[in-house]
Amino acid sequence: MTSSHATAVVHFAALSDPGKSRAHNEDSLLCAPQLALWAVADGMGGHQRGEVASALALQVLREQVEQGASLDVAIAAAHDAIIAAGDTDSASRGMGTTLVAAQLKGCQFTLAWLGDSRAYRISAEQIEQLSSDHSWVQGQVDAGVMSSAEARQHPRRNVITQCLGQAQDAPEPGVLVGELLPGEILLLCSDGLTGELTDEQILQYSATAETLDKLVLQLVKAANQNGGRDNVSC
Ligand code: CA
Repeated sequence: MTSSHATAVVHFAALSDPGKSRAHNEDSLLCAPQLALWAVADGMGGHQRGEVASALALQVLREQVEQGASLDVAIAAAHDAIIAAGDTDSASRGMGTTLVAAQLKGCQFTLAWLGDSRAYRISAEQIEQLSSDHSWVQGQVDAGVMSSAEARQHPRRNVITQCLGQAQDAPEPGVLVGELLPGEILLLCSDGLTGELTDEQILQYSATAETLDKLVLQLVKAANQNGGRDNVSC
């Protein structure tokens, strides 16, 4: 599918899969080309409430952006909506979700994220992680006491330090503005992808895929072949 904004033509593809070991898919995807808005959310919470949290976050994000809100304002509203849902339904209390969202304006993108769902910029030759995980292991890497390779294997690698719906204080999303060059790919994904594939593997698939539709299929398939221990979305 394509859509035009200024002189840029945006192609996109999206796929979400439960993976090999989870009964439910708690990830949610948002593709809203009419708003030039795309997002991935990775929900958590008992009794399938992770699915509720990630879907609610993306619904509120979309509504807010439709009304002209910036991504960080929209994310704050999504956070409040998840907390409010928990206040009215005890089974939903404590549910939360990560989120990574991208809004395009011509070749310019604005990213916002919370948690360990990620954004990458990928060209034919290189892959660059644009977001920085709100996770315990990323904190250790930033402090210089752990390498990225150690972080990938660490037993606490799934511990996130910020998400929507669970913080006592308002979350502080990471925000980044940048520009895509022609042919570059902006990849948004949940940790079910990056937990199973290295950045180099993602780059290899991206460099050789014939179309974006085939790329998302190949990425999900490869994550499942490497274990598929979590829901996979990209
Ligand atoms: Ca996940």
